[in-house]
Amino acid sequence: MKNLYDIQKATNFTTDLQLRVYTSNLLGKSDELVLHGGGNTSVKTVIDGEDILYVKGSGWDLVSIKEEGFAPVKLSTLLNMAKLEQLSDSDMVSGQKEAMIDSSAPNPSVEAILHAIIPYKFVDHTHSDAIVTLSNSFNGEQNIQQVFPNFLIVPYVMPGFILAQTIYKMIQNIDFESIDGIILHNHGIFTFDNDAKKSYDKMIDAVTLAEQFLEKNASIEFTQKKNSKPFDTKEIVELLSKEKNTPLFFNLNQTPLAQHYASQDNLKEFTTRGVLTPEHIIRTKRVPLIVENNNILQTITKYKESYIQYFKRFSSDEICLNPSPNYAIIKNIGIISFGKTQKEANIINDIAEHTMLAVLRADKIGGYKSISLKDSFEMEYWELEQAKLKRV
Ligand SMILES: [Zn+2]
Repeated sequence: MKNLYDIQKATNFTTDLQLRVYTSNLLGKSDELVLHGGGNTSVKTVIDGEDILYVKGSGWDLVSIKEEGFAPVKLSTLLNMAKLEQLSDSDMVSGQKEAMIDSSAPNPSVEAILHAIIPYKFVDHTHSDAIVTLSNSFNGEQNIQQVFPNFLIVPYVMPGFILAQTIYKMIQNIDFESIDGIILHNHGIFTFDNDAKKSYDKMIDAVTLAEQFLEKNASIEFTQKKNSKPFDTKEIVELLSKEKNTPLFFNLNQTPLAQHYASQDNLKEFTTRGVLTPEHIIRTKRVPLIVENNNILQTITKYKESYIQYFKRFSSDEICLNPSPNYAIIKNIGIISFGKTQKEANIINDIAEHTMLAVLRADKIGGYKSISLKDSFEMEYWELEQAKLKRV
């Protein structure tokens, strides 16, 4: 992976926050590191004698974040929150908000506590495709251990307070100087340093190791289709618009990757093995619709039935989301993503693209394996996401 740090350019940035913005934008430039709001970064500094954590605010993308996109939060409050035995994510969010020294700043990232407890000035967190691909396989633990012997490796837990608490407990007896970073299974990676460039360099170096492992062990050749068959999008778009009760935009993807993916045998088993990184589920749902014949209506009805079964199996008092799919795989044709806006359809398509490549590669190193159904449900029905629905 190319290191984009420009020493000459970086001399323009003199404050901690300016440097933080610069390397955050560099991370954001690589879709292989973060996609559409994924990942987060922070810097610790002192303002009026008080230790402050500037952490990515929600609603900002790393690629375009500016100084005002970072939320300034009192470090001492975050460190005290890490010690709590229990804290709901909603209470965590309101506690973090109260600890901001500028109430007009955006809400701090839900990973703010985790950034706070890492005792370095600059902390970088991405959802690197290559690293999550290594992790999301049946040999995931072994792969990660082999490529990252000097990292603290954390089994999958739900993002938010429980993840911060898990890592807080794990690091009590750790000499940070002895580790190069932290890998979160099925989720991503953290690197850190007191120097902005070094923290960024460590991210690029770690991701490069994972990429090299994949190049060696999981290279993919797309089976070339002579000509892509035409696909009439009208029926599926109309049916799903009715299901979702809103006009829909779509993105039809027939790249060699999408066609290769859509022409696999046992398409259903192959393509319904879960998300690449947990937060994707909010946009894509856990699985796409698989269209293998002309009866699209019946296929959608079956999808909805199985979604409602999944909801009933794991729900307690949650509000059920619309049970119809957010993207579909059309046998031998490609994939089609839907959204209330063109932008939303394109975002879902981007996520699907990265997922397809990861699935194909993970199958070369032991078989793709995402988080469990139960963990998927917990993410999809996270109280913070449900709170947004209840507000609506
Ligand atoms: Zn994350």
